[in-house]
Amino acid sequence: MPNETLTSDIAEIRSSYVRDRFAFVPSVKMVRIVQALGATDEDLDRLTMVSDALEGDPTLPFRRTRTGRFGFDPVAMEVRRLEFQPFMLSTEDDFVRHDSGKVRIFDEIRDDLQLNTALQALFVFKFMVFDGMKVEHRPKLDYDGDRWVCTLLNVRTVTDGDLIGEPALEGVHSDGVDHTMTTYLGSANMTEESAVTFLHEMDEVNGTRWHDTNPELTRARAQHRDFLDTCLIVDHELKHSVSTLYAADPERPATRDLLAFLTRRPVAGGHHSQAFDSPAPHPAMPMTVPLRALDETARVS
Ligand code: FE
Repeated sequence: MPNETLTSDIAEIRSSYVRDRFAFVPSVKMVRIVQALGATDEDLDRLTMVSDALEGDPTLPFRRTRTGRFGFDPVAMEVRRLEFQPFMLSTEDDFVRHDSGKVRIFDEIRDDLQLNTALQALFVFKFMVFDGMKVEHRPKLDYDGDRWVCTLLNVRTVTDGDLIGEPALEGVHSDGVDHTMTTYLGSANMTEESAVTFLHEMDEVNGTRWHDTNPELTRARAQHRDFLDTCLIVDHELKHSVSTLYAADPERPATRDLLAFLTRRPVAGGHHSQAFDSPAPHPAMPMTVPLRALDETARVS
């Protein structure tokens, strides 16, 4: 695809993201974009299967999860893998669940995902969309520097027998970051009405189940159905919830695979993740990818 098409595709997504504070990018467009950013056909194929290697989750029985920390460095114009740190979301992040405030130790994302050219293209895409955009500041984050920290989660939600998969057990919530991006990888045996994402005004009450929310405070709904369907959310300006994963054939397990890219400024003093915010590169699984910026002329902010 010519460079101008890539630029105009991303500029269009960026301007709708700036205007609406969320954006939904359908599969066909997303595949075209990541291919233009270097994703190979083999790696696109591999990405559909990478979640098969997930094993467990520290707090949720119906989920299998790996995480990795990545740093966007706009000075060096690189994104790189950062060293392992434990993970925590708290009620201060608008995240109310039984494991809020609990230190979670996930299995680490490995080279099968981080060296995938399609995954790497998703990082570059995300940066091109949010770079230079003004957002509502979260308390206790450091907005003075250039760096961004991105926690990547590779998640498989499973409904199997009595185990009901909740893509967001926490109900209405935020992810404790500035820019959330979710990219769908695939599903098996999932009903049509499963796993709908709802976006809510900030006045919606944290922890409300998706079916109990106030329709007057619901800004939008979106559903990830096709490979690489992607949703971007300004995380401190809109809350979100996700409906239950139902099995089409109740005799067989249903699965839904997703990547979540949770990107925020580094923490400042007094933040609950202050001890878990190292900028050091990963010593055993390095990865560095050059970033690209959208031309100034193609930007609105
Ligand atoms: Fe979330």
